[in-house]
Amino acid sequence: MSRFASTDKLFFKYLVAKRGHICEIHQRECPGIGPMHILSKAAAPRLRYDEINVVLACWFGAHYPTHQDPDDPRAIFARQRICELRGYATWEVLRFELKLRERMAQKVDLKMTSLWLKQQLEALCKNS
Ligand SMILES: [Zn+2]
Repeated sequence: MSRFASTDKLFFKYLVAKRGHICEIHQRECPGIGPMHILSKAAAPRLRYDEINVVLACWFGAHYPTHQDPDDPRAIFARQRICELRGYATWEVLRFELKLRERMAQKVDLKMTSLWLKQQLEALCKNS
């Protein structure tokens, strides 16, 4: 198990509590919904738990094709939807801004991130 596993799980729970258990690309409950990073965890490790860098997306309809083949129509659609969701005209501008965000962000502190996510989850559950 990776050192990120428990925080990753909390982050997913948090996103679902906030956004609902839906695929944000297709706006419905697709199978295999999970967090999809716009800038990958490898390219932007400091944006691993950054809400702007992450959308909830289905695996086969959006996530997998986006990482495998940029010309796949499912990948093209996913990029368009993400630009819409984030309010950017183009994928390139969105990615550029996220790269700047990565440069300005602090290193991930797993302990603090977990604590923060737990607090947020508690607050979100109280309000619903
Ligand atoms: Zn979907």
